[in-house]
Amino acid sequence: MPRPILATIHIDAMSGNLARVRACAPAARTWAVVKAQAYGHGLAAAVRGFAHADGLAVVEFDAALRLRELGWQRPILMLEGAFEPPDVALAREHRLALVVHEPRQLAWLEGGAGAGLDVHLKLNSGMNRLGFDDATFRTAHERLRAAPVASITLMTHFANADLPGGCDEALRRFDDACRGLVGARSLANSAAIFDCPPAHGDWVRPGIMLYGASPFADRSAAALGLAPAMTLRSRIIAVRELAAGDAVGYGSTFVAPRAMRAGVVACGYADGYPRHAPTGTPVGVDGARTRTLGRVSMDMLVVDLDPVPQAGIDAPVELWGRAVSVDEVAHASGTIGYELLCALAPRVPRAETA
Ligand SMILES: *Cc1c(COP(=O)(O)O)cnc(C)c1O
Repeated sequence: MPRPILATIHIDAMSGNLARVRACAPAARTWAVVKAQAYGHGLAAAVRGFAHADGLAVVEFDAALRLRELGWQRPILMLEGAFEPPDVALAREHRLALVVHEPRQLAWLEGGAGAGLDVHLKLNSGMNRLGFDDATFRTAHERLRAAPVASITLMTHFANADLPGGCDEALRRFDDACRGLVGARSLANSAAIFDCPPAHGDWVRPGIMLYGASPFADRSAAALGLAPAMTLRSRIIAVRELAAGDAVGYGSTFVAPRAMRAGVVACGYADGYPRHAPTGTPVGVDGARTRTLGRVSMDMLVVDLDPVPQAGIDAPVELWGRAVSVDEVAHASGTIGYELLCALAPRVPRAETA
């Protein structure tokens, strides 16, 4: 008998969310970002769900090769570029476009090694993570033109696109740095796709919105017109009648204030459910919303069954999905939906639905 936990990946939601990207940025082409195993949804699901994307973007070379094995023929962009010189040859062999964010990556493309490659030259527009600074960006561009590579796209990544006006300063820096340079532009992540149309450029790079979670702390995915691409479900495997004063779980952090029913769910932090989720984190049981009780343990968590008197052993539980959004669980746990989706554990079986 398999353990009852299952992550269902909704291919239709993924393609619907991609259509939402197109509606927000109709003039731009789309790199669907599928790093971290498509934010936990799996590369096979991504190839199906994003069949109409113009390209897929990853950071892992093994993922790029897997996408080719899965039959993806269109462009693939390596968002961190080459990590060592042999990656350049790999990129040529498998037609992978490379981000260039660092002088040594430039050197690896010179002397003909980069011939035929499409590259994205990255500007550091204030995040101070990857990219050339304003002062070195144009020289890097000249060196690339001499390399000679097949095409140069100018790119940056926003540090604050999820905040009101948060792209303005970075966009100004990008426009200044790129003034007069020919080449397509790529700037926008999910937050900028929604909130910063001047940053749409030629290629947008949505990630989280494609999976139906929100890039904003204060706007729900549903309000943004996105549908969740993952439902994490399990079942109640034991029911307890608690008396007033009975404690629940490790550390006895929850103590029943009165007699109540509690259900034990086959899902814990080893499945990717956050251990930091406190008592009161929303959870769906038998179609209704209730809350968690006490500490999440490795393989189990406990839920309050008082709001769902009909629910007993084997009752279906939705950890996140449509009834309870992954963003709500993340918010309660002091993190973001991105982290929970990426952290879905390999031991959780997955099923794709059309
Ligand atoms: C991950 C990533 C994205 C996607 O960001 P979301 O916030 O998930 O939309 C876009 N661009 C780069 C460079 C990234 O690393």
